[in-house]
Amino acid sequence: MRVLVVGAGISGLFVARELALRGVKDVTVVDSGYPGGGATLRNLGCFRSSFTSPEHVVLIKESIREWLRLRDEMGLSLEQRGYLWVARKPETLEGFRKLTEFHHQFGVPTRLVDADEVRLLEPRLNARVVVGAMFDPTAGRMPIIENFVKLYLEVKRLGVRVVPYTRVTRLVPRGSRVTAAETSRGPVEADAFVVAAGGDSRDILATVGVDVPITDVPRHPYVTEPYAETLRPALIIDWDTPGSPHVSQNEHGSFVLARDLEDAPRVSIYSHRADAIPHILKPLRELLPLLSGVNVLRYWMGYYDMTPDHHPIYGPVEPYENLYVAAGFSGHGMMMGPVTGKLIASWILDGRPHIDVARNLTLERFKTGRLVKELAVIG
Ligand SMILES: Cc1cc2nc3c(=O)[nH]c(=O)nc-3n(C[C@H](O)[C@H](O)[C@H](O)COP(=O)(O)OP(=O)(O)OC[C@H]3O[C@@H](n4cnc5c(N)ncnc54)[C@H](O)[C@@H]3O)c2cc1C
Repeated sequence: MRVLVVGAGISGLFVARELALRGVKDVTVVDSGYPGGGATLRNLGCFRSSFTSPEHVVLIKESIREWLRLRDEMGLSLEQRGYLWVARKPETLEGFRKLTEFHHQFGVPTRLVDADEVRLLEPRLNARVVVGAMFDPTAGRMPIIENFVKLYLEVKRLGVRVVPYTRVTRLVPRGSRVTAAETSRGPVEADAFVVAAGGDSRDILATVGVDVPITDVPRHPYVTEPYAETLRPALIIDWDTPGSPHVSQNEHGSFVLARDLEDAPRVSIYSHRADAIPHILKPLRELLPLLSGVNVLRYWMGYYDMTPDHHPIYGPVEPYENLYVAAGFSGHGMMMGPVTGKLIASWILDGRPHIDVARNLTLERFKTGRLVKELAVIG
């Protein structure tokens, strides 16, 4: 069986890895740029299963379990130092309490913490502002470049062909099947096609008449000079401030700061938002006074490939028998990488996803209107 995967980001590489591990001998991944050059190498490397939909909680809990297994198997790096969702308003705590009850149904051990325990979890937080928090001890972060490079090398070792600088310009259908992808280097034939091209999946699938509701929403993380101070949680989220400003400290000691900002969709990847620095820093300084003296050193920008219900689009693309999609991760595709690989491989090889709840996330839901809401999207 020949499989062509379009997109060498975290999703495409995990799909290719899983197919190769399951015995598919001829797997090719093409990318219009270099591997990871889409959203993947622009992400913060944070992970959690403390979401608000059963689909996200179940799938991401499984994905984190797999990341931890791969930490041992492939020598990846991951730290589970927890997410601290900080409340400034007492009424927010009731919402957090309900959310913890929801998480416990799925074995995710989030807990409500009072202001005293918040100080134990992160003594540098401003006690005059914080009334309590929700803590997710299983959440964490990972160094993305290190882990992505290790995954890339493993995929190559498994015999997958990864072909950079090869853009798919259109898919070629015949009846109920796709027979080839036309690329900037000529046509590529295959028996099955997986489109894992982030927001560009929309344009690729439009060439076979399939409408995929993904919007590219710009995101802007700011990176400070490195500091010796170490934040204890992997991520601190200012949940009661619009745009949920958040901060983590990366493996080099730099603080990484971000906030959901008003922006035009499809704004150029080369644009910058230096004007946003005060809007991000002001609430975070109030929360964490140690940020008062930090210098922002650099900045990058990337897109969340956002769907209307903030969940990925997985699985078969009707009416085609051999076309699959894995896109629209809405800011969560890095943490979902391992489960994405297994889901798409099982759809291709077994005709169904290995975790049943993933059936709720096919393209079909936009036709039937059965959307699956996620309320806890950060940044
Ligand atoms: C600022 C920021 C912070 C984030 N933080 C987190 C986080 O902390 N945790 C988390 O889990 N997620 C996070 N994300 C989201 C995460 O980065 C994405 O969900 C994930 O990387 C999606 O991976 P992907 O492989 O599906 O897509 P991408 O990484 O975008 O890969 C798609 C690939 O397809 C290629 N491509 C596009 N069009 C074509 C074509 N026509 N032909 C061939 N190739 C094509 C692109 O070049 C690209 O390499 C963040 C995203 C951003 C922008």
